[in-house]
Amino acid sequence: ILYWMNRDQRVQDNWALLFAQEIALKNQAPLYVIFDVNSSLQQSTLRHTEFMLKGLENIDRDLMKLNIEFVVLTGESKTSVTNFISSYSVGAMVTDFSPLRPHQELRKHIASKISIPMYEVDAHNIVPCWVTSSKLEYSAYTFRPKIHSQLHEFLEEFPKVQSHPFSNNKDRSKNNWKTIRSSLSVNTNVGEVDWLLPGEHNAHKMFEKFLEKRLNNYNEARNNPNVSGQSNLSPYLHFGHISAQRIALEIQKFSKNSFSSDSFLEELIVRKELSDNFCFYQPYYDSFNGFPTWAKETLNKHRNDSRMYRYSLEQFECAQTHDDLWNASQLEMVRKGKMHGYLRMYWAKKILEWSNSPEEALQIAIHLNDKYELDGCNPNGYTGIAWSIGGVHDRAWGERNIFGKIRYMSYEGCKRKFDINSYIQQNL
Ligand code: FAD
Repeated sequence: ILYWMNRDQRVQDNWALLFAQEIALKNQAPLYVIFDVNSSLQQSTLRHTEFMLKGLENIDRDLMKLNIEFVVLTGESKTSVTNFISSYSVGAMVTDFSPLRPHQELRKHIASKISIPMYEVDAHNIVPCWVTSSKLEYSAYTFRPKIHSQLHEFLEEFPKVQSHPFSNNKDRSKNNWKTIRSSLSVNTNVGEVDWLLPGEHNAHKMFEKFLEKRLNNYNEARNNPNVSGQSNLSPYLHFGHISAQRIALEIQKFSKNSFSSDSFLEELIVRKELSDNFCFYQPYYDSFNGFPTWAKETLNKHRNDSRMYRYSLEQFECAQTHDDLWNASQLEMVRKGKMHGYLRMYWAKKILEWSNSPEEALQIAIHLNDKYELDGCNPNGYTGIAWSIGGVHDRAWGERNIFGKIRYMSYEGCKRKFDINSYIQQNL
């Protein structure tokens, strides 16, 4: 029995692995986990590649202790997965879920090439994406009651993955991490970060620190880029090093009904799972076509408005705009691999204001977000950018230049909200 791991790169608290083990135990069969590195990274920067590979090395060690063989495939994804299935005489395959196109397309392709049962398990969301809602949701307002009404059924404790009692009689092949690394062509211009260590164990440490020291103050601190108010869990959630369900379970035990826990769970559950809903049901999640009709109309009406500033991708990338707050945010992302959440909105909206068209703005924002953010190439990113530039999940606001009825954010507004000079000094 095989688990083809992709989005959920962890051993414990992983429904896809648990389900694969359940099938293997019923059939008294060995259990394998494979990971194909080529289809798993949309951004092959040193930053993303090393964060992922170091996490996988931990998985390798942890699975070995459980007598489960972990095989990293380095060949072309379409053939290496099917070759593995035939050479190991696999009887059934489980895979995890992502709403993003490359993941969906590859799974459809493989499913069309094999004749064994293949199961897709949503091990990332608490309520499986297709169970929460069977359609594209309009806003958090329409999505929230749907997810809340299902949580009592799905927000339950995980069983532990057991030491697997069945193995094949062949010698276990060892992953050669040096060969795996040399098989990848990596962009070394975007370097690793040292303030956030990868892997399942480090993800849990980061979460424990947040729970003890920062959760109680989350509601007041989360929108202030000068204080460390956010959880910093998004890179771990993105690579699946920690499960959102585990986080929600522990928060419920730790602090029931506090304002801060509620506000954190709103982000972790409602906003995060709404992003998966958007990318799953909106095939144009990363283009202008994916914006709601009112937003397309208003942006079209204002596309020829005069612009005081226009910048190219290179100028944006090198933080060479006239706006020191925008430049500081861009540099925080480039250096740290994580821009503060409040400034991500300002950052994307200003790209709309200073680009030639909404299409170009969208492209630039996605390109930079995915290249530098450790949590990039994620449904939250595509949805957050579509919210900022294209009014997705938002409503129409007062009409103005370039933005039309898309919600506007200003430098002066940020000044009123937090000490922008302190933030600029720290990041410029
Ligand atoms: P916390 O505030 O501690 O939140 C905890 C978790 O809740 C996050 O890890 C995330 O999973 C979820 N969450 C929080 N805010 C949001 C949100 N607005 N939408 C969806 N889920 C949310 N998030 C990414 O994971 N990857 C991205 O590439 C990304 N790009 C973004 C780009 C723009 C323009 C915008 C406006 C938002 C983007 N976000 C992205 C959403 C959000 O800003 C980040 O999830 C958050 O800042 C991550 O930091 P944290 O884990 O410390 O957040």
